[in-house]
Amino acid sequence: MASGLTGNCYLCGKEFGKTAVRNHLMKVHNNQTGGQKCCLLKIEGAYNKDYWLYIDVPVTSALSGVDAFLRKIWLECCGHMSAFFGPGHAQVSKNRKLDAFSVGDKLLHEYDFGSTIETLITVIGETTRKTQKESVRLLARNIPPVFSCCSCVESATVLCTECIFDSDNPFFCQKCGEAHEHVDMMLAVSNSPRMGVCGYEGELDIFTFNPQPSQKKRDHLNYPIEYSGEGQDFDLLFLFFYS
Ligand SMILES: [Zn+2]
Ligand SMILES: [Zn+2]
Ligand SMILES: [Zn+2]
Ligand SMILES: [Zn+2]
Repeated sequence: MASGLTGNCYLCGKEFGKTAVRNHLMKVHNNQTGGQKCCLLKIEGAYNKDYWLYIDVPVTSALSGVDAFLRKIWLECCGHMSAFFGPGHAQVSKNRKLDAFSVGDKLLHEYDFGSTIETLITVIGETTRKTQKESVRLLARNIPPVFSCCSCVESATVLCTECIFDSDNPFFCQKCGEAHEHVDMMLAVSNSPRMGVCGYEGELDIFTFNPQPSQKKRDHLNYPIEYSGEGQDFDLLFLFFYS
């Protein structure tokens, strides 16, 4: 049911398709009363478009902030190199400011020049948001795809990087994974186009959306959002004050 094709608006919690969320962000969350002028960016796996994000970034910010954010939410495993590319695969400096781009422009971000993950970035709008310190603000993200264990009915938590090449389903639940012959080759399931590559396990991804928080939390926060991982309180406050 939950599919990578639909996702959540991180500002109000509502669920949308990948295209509909753009209109929603432009109409409902475009703060017309002044603040920071931003580029609204759609970001998707170049070869797996079920993984997608929407972020806004001030036009005065540089691409380096986008690179840092992509590493955190999607990519970082062991400090590989990365770069941005424009038309004709010409490299674009990470110091380039967002105001150099117009609506419709596309950029390719590549992380790790060995087992490369290519990310497609499209400038889809000009928006205004309340001023905040952090350059990148996450606005929407796909709901994590659910994979089922290849040998039982449970949902998978790990995948085998040995079987990934010759099996239709290299996914395992915790229990079946521990009994599998390549137990040392397992990586955690993650909501990222880098899942299963190199040593990627999504440890830096603190941006998980929880559509079903406990009632207690919902009452307390009046807000259907919960983050996992460290920095949780900070990120919640961050959303509260700036959404
Ligand atoms: Zn919303
Ligand atoms: Zn790596
Ligand atoms: Zn299983
Ligand atoms: Zn295996």
